[in-house]
Amino acid sequence: AQSDGRSRVRFFEPDIDIHVERRINIERELRSAIAADIIEPHYQPVVSLESNRIVGFEALARWENRTLGHIPPDVFIPIAEETGLINALGDQVFRRACLDATAWPKTFSLAFNISPVQLRDSALGGRIISILEQTGFSPCRLEIEITESAFVERNGAAKTVIDELRQAGVRIALDDFGTAYATLSQLLSFRLDRIKIDRSFVSHLDESTDSRVIVRAILDIAKGFGLRTTAEGVEDEGQLVYLVANGCTEGQGYLFSGPVQATGIPALLDRQARR
Ligand code: C2E
Ligand code: CA
Ligand code: CA
Ligand code: CA
Repeated sequence: AQSDGRSRVRFFEPDIDIHVERRINIERELRSAIAADIIEPHYQPVVSLESNRIVGFEALARWENRTLGHIPPDVFIPIAEETGLINALGDQVFRRACLDATAWPKTFSLAFNISPVQLRDSALGGRIISILEQTGFSPCRLEIEITESAFVERNGAAKTVIDELRQAGVRIALDDFGTAYATLSQLLSFRLDRIKIDRSFVSHLDESTDSRVIVRAILDIAKGFGLRTTAEGVEDEGQLVYLVANGCTEGQGYLFSGPVQATGIPALLDRQARR
């Protein structure tokens, strides 16, 4: 069947059509979702592995569409990037997150994701700072999460934007660490505050010696450079025990809580207060 080029064409064409059509639909709906400001952040607790308490939340964009259903950020963020809608979308979700976060305890931090494509825009830093000013959320409570690929882009404005944000007091976290684009020296040429260990390593801690060795090495490097560390995707006690034993400072994952709506946060804090 593999040598039969015609039958392959016949097989794949309908799929491609469906794919293209869905993509066009998503793009059209995305435009109106942004115009109507209905893409909203949900919040996943970041838990201190030292005190076992919530120390902040990561904002994660959520989009529910009446005809297309739930569309995950892994789908709509790339489309927003390709269509140039990402700036409007990013600003909108960030503004909402800052407003929501002003209701949290004053010690809590807000982590916000910025994609490598967003970091190509040298005006981004200025926009983030002015949204902070307008909403009254302190830059010292904000942590921007950036993935490795942003650090290897040659013509990106990443360095300018990151420097500007750092100047304003914003912290910088390296997201999805270990998924490997950048060399260690490329990464360390940026001043970082935190490394987030990718879920792919955390989820295999139980059965994979390789994962245990890699996670321990990451934690050692981070410690050596005075960086804090968040383990992503902590789902069971076994993983937690290993992370604590090896000095990981914070954790996120379904073991603690998945992302919740802004209105669900008081109940989460209440439950913690009763423990
Ligand atoms: P990320 O920044 O690595 O976010 C972590 C993802 O892991 C989230 O998926 C979260 O819901 C999921 N997760 C958290 N704990 C667990 C766990 O214990 N087990 C498992 N299996 N998954 C867990 P989500 O919300 O679908 O987001 C996917 C990606 O989309 C994010 O990955 C981030 O890169 C991007 N993203 C989300 N919101 C935004 C945004 O506002 N702006 C930008 N630029 N990117 C965003
Ligand atoms: Ca993240
Ligand atoms: Ca991540
Ligand atoms: Ca990710």
